Amino acid sequence: MASLEQAISRRLIQETPNALVVIDTDQRICYANPPAERIFGYAQGELLDQPLDLLLPPESRKAHREHIQRFLASEDRTRSMGERGEIRGLHADGTPFPAEATITRLEWEGSTYLVALLNDRSSARELEAERQRLAEILESTPDLVGIADPEGNVVYRNKSARDLLASPLSERDPRPHVQAAHPKEDGQRVLNEAFPEARETGFWEGENTFLNGDGNHVPVSQIIRAHYDGNGEVAYFSTIARDLRPYREAEHRLHILFAALDQAADMVWITDNQGVVEYVNPAFEAVTGFAAEAAKGHKVGALMKSDHHDQDFYARMWGQLLQGQPYRDVFTNRTRDGQEVHIDETISPVRDSDGKVTHFIATGRDISERLVLEDRLRQLAYYDPLTGLPNRTHFEEQLAHSLSRAERSGHSLALLMLDLDRFKDLNDSLGHPTGDELLVQVGHRLREAVRSSDLVARLGGDEFVILLDPVAGEEGVIRVAETLLQALEPRFDIQGTAFHTHISIGISLFPADAEDTSTLLQQADTALFEAKGAGGHSYRFFSPRHTQAATDRFQVEHGLHQALAEEACEPFFQPLVRLPTGAIIGVEALVRCRFPDSGEWIPPGRFISVAERTGLIHQLGAGVLKQACQAFRDWWAKGYSLERLAVNLSPIQLTRRGFSTQVAAILEETGVAPGWLELEITEEAVLWDEEIALEELEALAELGVVIALDDFGKGYSSPANLQQLPVSRMKIDRAFIQGVDHDPGNRTILRGLLGFAEGFRCRITAEGIERPEEAAYLRGLGIQEGQGFLYAHPLRAHELERTFLAGD
Ligand code: C2E
Ligand code: CA
Ligand code: CA
Repeated sequence: MASLEQAISRRLIQETPNALVVIDTDQRICYANPPAERIFGYAQGELLDQPLDLLLPPESRKAHREHIQRFLASEDRTRSMGERGEIRGLHADGTPFPAEATITRLEWEGSTYLVALLNDRSSARELEAERQRLAEILESTPDLVGIADPEGNVVYRNKSARDLLASPLSERDPRPHVQAAHPKEDGQRVLNEAFPEARETGFWEGENTFLNGDGNHVPVSQIIRAHYDGNGEVAYFSTIARDLRPYREAEHRLHILFAALDQAADMVWITDNQGVVEYVNPAFEAVTGFAAEAAKGHKVGALMKSDHHDQDFYARMWGQLLQGQPYRDVFTNRTRDGQEVHIDETISPVRDSDGKVTHFIATGRDISERLVLEDRLRQLAYYDPLTGLPNRTHFEEQLAHSLSRAERSGHSLALLMLDLDRFKDLNDSLGHPTGDELLVQVGHRLREAVRSSDLVARLGGDEFVILLDPVAGEEGVIRVAETLLQALEPRFDIQGTAFHTHISIGISLFPADAEDTSTLLQQADTALFEAKGAGGHSYRFFSPRHTQAATDRFQVEHGLHQALAEEACEPFFQPLVRLPTGAIIGVEALVRCRFPDSGEWIPPGRFISVAERTGLIHQLGAGVLKQACQAFRDWWAKGYSLERLAVNLSPIQLTRRGFSTQVAAILEETGVAPGWLELEITEEAVLWDEEIALEELEALAELGVVIALDDFGKGYSSPANLQQLPVSRMKIDRAFIQGVDHDPGNRTILRGLLGFAEGFRCRITAEGIERPEEAAYLRGLGIQEGQGFLYAHPLRAHELERTFLAGD
């Protein structure tokens, strides 16, 4: 028995996995079993007589020794050490390992020994560590992890599950049922579908719903696994579920984003990094005509490219994009049906987490309409919408430009300011559409009349301006001015009606007159006024003395307004005499106005053209006629029987229908017989509206009023033009009377004029007789009537009466 027990002991000592080390009180090793040698890494017998320190890491040797001393000094027989492996052994190769030991005191043959039974805790510790790591992972994962027993009682849930399901699965209930974690139906589904399927196949997967603490439903995607024991029975179920709320939210956000893109007015498209379309929104479809399905998979460049941009353009774009920067520009693209559209595009690269460009997002706005509008605005800003000619702004810019160029190169420029004679009246009487049409045609003729390098612009109203750049001296300018006058000679045909119109031209020169735009324009304007004042249909170069006239113009208009308002305009009368006897046969009424500021009688040369331009002539003319008739009637009443009352007419007065009726009314009112009245017209009488003018003249003639042609010889009349006028008297212009007694030129002309008048069966009056010699010569020619300073200056009514009538 003893030996059996010994045999067992020996075997046990040899076979146990534990190390057995016996030390004496000097802490020397007296025995080490084979496992001890193996665990510590020594050969058989190698440990005998070695100090225990050999098996301990140096840092714990001292504590160890003290511990053993204390143990020996104590009453204890046995003591365990390092239960959790916190004591350490030392492998022969110098590496420490965790260990657990039990030491026992052994008294044998008078000596005390300590028997240490030690096991290597290395692997146990690793397992524990791994368990802990796994637990940590489970605890820290945001997914919900749980374990349930086969009946569905929850035996484990990780932190996420505990947090989410805190109140449905009460902490106090150690084994809550899985059903409690779900809304009713879903809980049943777990029991009736998921668990059976997992039991059967090991696995169930699906979307499910949990209940959270607030009673809200939490959508999850869930996996349930069955784990089996050795008998193939389910030992437990495990589950992993992922809270789908963030995904649902992201999905929702994405949904909203795409809804926004769908409704966006701007085009949006997304391509991969090769420019292949992956998405386009409806605005893109609308603008380009490419449906989303047709666009997808195609290179956006190939879809929309026009040949508008060169390679540099695209190189610049790609350069910037590939550097990861957004690119913005206006692209001219082509739509599906080949139309060009202008798109203000912004293309932005999208990078992945590595910084690699994976996509491009482009937004674009069709600005074609805006560009057209801008174009139109530019057109409006720089061009006159009626004639299509450059406007004042454009002209002034160009002029400044030309001036600086001319300054550098030293060449000359000329500025021609043009204005249609009496346009305002035509416009008023015939209506704006006709006036507009006339302006268009005039603009056209002016443009045609000059070189293409010259600039023709419309400044407004009937004012045009032409810049001759360059110009060869004054002769060059004169040639152009003459050409322009001629260009307007032919009749204008507006909606079947024929018109004549003339222009007046004012000219200023660079650098002779001025060197800046505004002064040049002003000077040309002044010269223009001068040209108009001289009767129109002519040109004038600027001369400094004209400047005064320009300022006068405004004073005149102002003064005339006031004079009319204050009835400070009245006819003076110049006697018409019978040349052979010198007896007075009648008078010509010649208007004068007293402007309030001067108090002097201003002669008509100063204000008639202003009255015509402003339309005041109608009022002025009617007033003069009426006063003249009153004076004439008064003289008759006093027994001074004059044969004739001559009154001047402006052609403007003949642009209004009903003028003859007005004359008839005045004659009626003042009691002057129509036959006494002689109305003096000039050849321009029919300039504006032939039809009205002729009608009115015919009506006047019908009435019995005599029509006389004034200033005969001064105009450009051809017999054809004169023939249509119902004229029965011609008044030979002063210019041909002056010095006629000794000037052979005037004599020739005068004879011609007389012949002409005879051809028309017109009687003759000679104007402006100043010298007795002239009178004598005229008498010699058989001319019966005349007027002039030789006989009398124009006089106020009462002066005439006193000087000529009362004395008779
Ligand atoms: P007109 O019809 O040719 O009138 C003759 C002009 O010659 C008058 O100038 C008169 O004063 C001037 N005159 C007369 N005899 C002589 C002379 O011997 N030598 C010189 N150097 N001049 C002489 P006035 O009054 O300054 O009138 C200028 C023009 O104004 C007129 O030329 C006429 O065309 C226009 N006029 C005058 N009164 C009226 C009017 O009531 N209505 C309109 N529409 N025009 C008028
Ligand atoms: Ca006259
Ligand atoms: Ca005259």
